[in-house]
Amino acid sequence: MQYINYSARVQVRESYDIIVSGGGVAGAAAALAAARAGKKVLLIEKTTLLGGLATIGLINFFVPMCNGNGTKIIRGMAEEFFQLSIKNGYNTIPDVWKEGKTPAEPLTSPRYTTRYSAQIFALELTKLLDDAGVTLRFDSIVTDAVMENDVCQGVIVESKSGREYFPAKVFIDTTGDADLLARADVPTIQGKNYLTYVGYTVSFDTCRKALETGKIRDIYGHCTGGKASLYGTNHPENMPFFTGTSGDDVTNYLLINQKMMLENLSRDVPGERDCVTLPTMPQFRTTRCIRGEHILSTDDVYRHFDDSIGAICDFDNRHKLYEIPYRTLCSSKAANILTAGRSASATGYAWDVLRVIPPAIITGEAAGFAASLMIDGNTTAVNCNIKKLQNILADNDVMIHFDDKLVPGEELLKQKSAAATEVHF
Ligand SMILES: Cc1cc2nc3c(=O)[nH]c(=O)nc-3n(C[C@H](O)[C@H](O)[C@H](O)COP(=O)(O)OP(=O)(O)OC[C@H]3O[C@@H](n4cnc5c(N)ncnc54)[C@H](O)[C@@H]3O)c2cc1C
Repeated sequence: MQYINYSARVQVRESYDIIVSGGGVAGAAAALAAARAGKKVLLIEKTTLLGGLATIGLINFFVPMCNGNGTKIIRGMAEEFFQLSIKNGYNTIPDVWKEGKTPAEPLTSPRYTTRYSAQIFALELTKLLDDAGVTLRFDSIVTDAVMENDVCQGVIVESKSGREYFPAKVFIDTTGDADLLARADVPTIQGKNYLTYVGYTVSFDTCRKALETGKIRDIYGHCTGGKASLYGTNHPENMPFFTGTSGDDVTNYLLINQKMMLENLSRDVPGERDCVTLPTMPQFRTTRCIRGEHILSTDDVYRHFDDSIGAICDFDNRHKLYEIPYRTLCSSKAANILTAGRSASATGYAWDVLRVIPPAIITGEAAGFAASLMIDGNTTAVNCNIKKLQNILADNDVMIHFDDKLVPGEELLKQKSAAATEVHF
């Protein structure tokens, strides 16, 4: 490998209390929490819309926020975003939850979920954050961390303005890919990704169906490139997995999927359907996460943590509950960088449980409040005052610890969810 060195003059911009890199749901939650805590916050987003995978990635489904037995587990800002996502669009909340009843049959009752309009949710997030006083910077990519030992002084940002330097006291990496942490040389864990690429179509058939059902969301059909599931089913044999953390790898993923999608679309009758939306970010699930002070694993199911920042449920195995240790958001190798969302520290299937939309919002919310406490207490990330953080989160309706009464008995534990939740995670 050959390298060159070159130096550049970089304009120094205004400084912030907290800079959030990446405006997916985790970044939006982090920025909002930090702004509500009274901090001066900058949120830098690579694309032109907020929401990340949950909007431009076309993943428009809040996985279950309840256990399988009628109790809402994931609340706080996750519930706020859930409501926001459907405020001016459609929803698919099961009737039992709309009516406010407790679903009765544990293994068959619908769980608390919804689909929503990805585009409208993105617009709502922009308004929410702007109204809360977060400074938004779109179409700008965080390319480097300027470090002094283990303290991040500022980030380098590329945009139409050229290259700029933004200093801050605390940084939150919500790029989903731990980009900032990697640039700061903080240890990370590399994940693997399958060939998945899903877009939306409309056709005469789907339009007819929507008219019949009276449901606007029925106008959409799906078109696919790769069809791999969360568990890797349908990933082509002999095809290597994708890392999602190099330019070549991302480009290769896009080339393969876009050609496959075109081939699949070319089997339809031209003029009878259109492809109306393609994902404008790669649909990667687990690319890179922080090697945190705790790495969440499936061994942690039903385990209480003193530093829990929120209880979450398993979307695919109703009844299973986890608490998220604060230590999944930080590393002793980074004094003033926190992370949240897809890049919170986890391994195996526990990474899947932790990264989906509602938990990503919970970790984002916790990171935003924690960043504010770090500034107030003049502490490093690992020394953040956990009791204060838990009190703030509890005041914002986060369930910090699950009640042991919610842990099911042996018989129930053996049974896998009978009522599947929805198509893809
Ligand atoms: C195929 C698939 C299906 C899924 N299905 C579901 C589902 O049905 N329900 C569910 O709840 N979850 C599902 N998920 C998971 C869920 O969508 C994500 O895990 C969640 O939305 C992650 O949010 P995030 O904010 O952590 O990361 P992301 O959504 O990845 O957001 C990261 C943001 O950072 C920005 N960014 C990246 N790098 C930079 C940079 N260097 N500088 C500035 N900005 C940057 C990106 O543009 C993006 O906006 C699915 C995921 C996939 C891939």
